[in-house]
Amino acid sequence: MKNIRNFCIIAHIDHGKSTLADRLLDYTGSVTAREKQDQLLDSMDLERERGITIKSHAIQMEYVLDGQDYILNLIDTPGHVDFSYEVSRSIAACEGALLIVDAAQSIQAQTISNLYLALENDLEIIPVLNKVDLPSANPEEVTDDIVDLLGCDPEEVIHASGKTGFGVDEILKAIIERVPAPQGNVDEPLQALIFDSVYNTFRGIETYFRVFNGEIKKGQKIKFVATGKEYFADEVGTLKLNQVPKQSVKAGDVGYLITGIKTAKEVKVGDTITDFANPTTNIVEGFEDVKPMVFAGIYPVDTEDYEELRASMEKLQLNDASLVFQPESSAALGFGFRCGFLGMLHMEIIQERLEREFDMTVITTVPNVSYHAYTNKEPDVAFIVNNPSDLPETTTVNRVEEPYIKATIITKSDFVGNVMSLCIEKRGMIINQTYLTTERVELIFEMPLAEIVFDFYDRLKTVSKGYASFDYSPIGMKVSKLVRLDVLLNAQPVDALSALIHADNAQHIGKKMCEKLKELIPRQQFDIPIQAAIGAKIIARETVKALRKDVTAKCYGGDISRKRKLLEKQKKGKKRMRQVGNVEIPQQAFMAVLKLN
Ligand code: GDP
Ligand code: MG
Repeated sequence: MKNIRNFCIIAHIDHGKSTLADRLLDYTGSVTAREKQDQLLDSMDLERERGITIKSHAIQMEYVLDGQDYILNLIDTPGHVDFSYEVSRSIAACEGALLIVDAAQSIQAQTISNLYLALENDLEIIPVLNKVDLPSANPEEVTDDIVDLLGCDPEEVIHASGKTGFGVDEILKAIIERVPAPQGNVDEPLQALIFDSVYNTFRGIETYFRVFNGEIKKGQKIKFVATGKEYFADEVGTLKLNQVPKQSVKAGDVGYLITGIKTAKEVKVGDTITDFANPTTNIVEGFEDVKPMVFAGIYPVDTEDYEELRASMEKLQLNDASLVFQPESSAALGFGFRCGFLGMLHMEIIQERLEREFDMTVITTVPNVSYHAYTNKEPDVAFIVNNPSDLPETTTVNRVEEPYIKATIITKSDFVGNVMSLCIEKRGMIINQTYLTTERVELIFEMPLAEIVFDFYDRLKTVSKGYASFDYSPIGMKVSKLVRLDVLLNAQPVDALSALIHADNAQHIGKKMCEKLKELIPRQQFDIPIQAAIGAKIIARETVKALRKDVTAKCYGGDISRKRKLLEKQKKGKKRMRQVGNVEIPQQAFMAVLKLN
């Protein structure tokens, strides 16, 4: 055990975590030439394209220092706020963390939020100043920033480049010398932390764990504490680039487990694995049941594809337990599903996977958060509203609560004014403002989560010319003056376009919404009135004008255009349009309320 080191890499997005991980694998000879591929740890196609690590994995390296053999387990952490619970569990499996800071960008919001997670888990922090090869690198200044943040000596900050490999040997040496060896006792009852799980079509669910005490043996009867489920450990082993089956994985080490589990739901990240016959009295602290934060409807473009969509969602859920869904029906869109996601990125990923892996064409409706509504009849019973159209009649509502977050924003001092105005417009309340350096400011706000869902990231980037980073964590529910804004097309309410918004903004948003929809809805042979309403009251109105006659004639007359029409009909499946009544609504229109600026 004294020659094992368990560590993770934490960084703000794009500061070079994946690139550096690749260099570590190279340098320790953990990858053969054939296996070499850029950003090895990001194994899903989608991850590689987006350049983010969605699912954390672990990999074992071997390294010799001063004649001693060491085993280094690198536990990869996801780099996005949507997956912050998974980050925290990966961190809890380690004794040390490499804190990567881009030498041109310096400290950003996720540098800090990840650092806090690591400190909460008593990890040894090894600061790494990365990308020193960049012409725009600012090594002295950024080293000062790191020293200020950590209270460490400047000599402790390792200068490195994932691109050139500079500093990689020094990093490996620091991991061995500075990260404590795991403690724990092989003779105690099994106590292991699940920090990830992955679905494999052939083998079912692979569970990744860190053993704190005892050992997990092939064939052993084990128990998952939080779910209460019992299994046999059909296969256990350690994680090289491929899995290496072993007779047992002992205290201090990281490994995988295969038990014949077929659905991701049975394995909960953060749960403790123990021995069935001789269970531990210690469970690993910090287990949480992850809850979806953002909800949206997913509907097939072609109503006939409903059953196929259900089958696809069920398959997706096998390997992504954080996706939840249940059938719902919409007057406008017919049968579909109300789905819960960890955040906006997670939602986009699911939509994209449905299209790529299952060849489904779907419409996603306006995302919303989960509200609590209380009626006058039962003012103490929270009625959970995951779909705006489920909000009870306005007259019967006693109050509505919405989820709030603590938002941390780091920006250059020049942009503090802009960022403040944006956050206040987004119903934020400033809690704290700290100058990290003379040029960099940390702002803490309390804000409704719903406002983050509504085009916050893009606006923040714009008002700060890209010089603002952002992170958040939920802080609970608060009462808000919310109303449901409905949209009518051709005098018909389209439930899938409804949104809950703050009463003070309703007039303004209603107007903008009508203008935006006018832009997005294609003209047809008749006028299409667009109206925004709160209850029975119409608050805004626009009209999509009919196409002129001669234009129509050109489009639809003659032989060639009949052919084109057929072609278009064929393509329509891929066009992401939904016919509602006699109006065609494109996918973008369902997202209009998110893009009003
Ligand atoms: P991650 O989001 O933290 O995993 O960051 P990546 O490893 O994906 O790197 C983000 C971008 O920075 C990529 O375009 C990399 O090629 C680039 N990059 C990473 N490390 C270095 C470095 O040391 N020097 C330079 N010049 N570019 C780097
Ligand atoms: Mg990455």
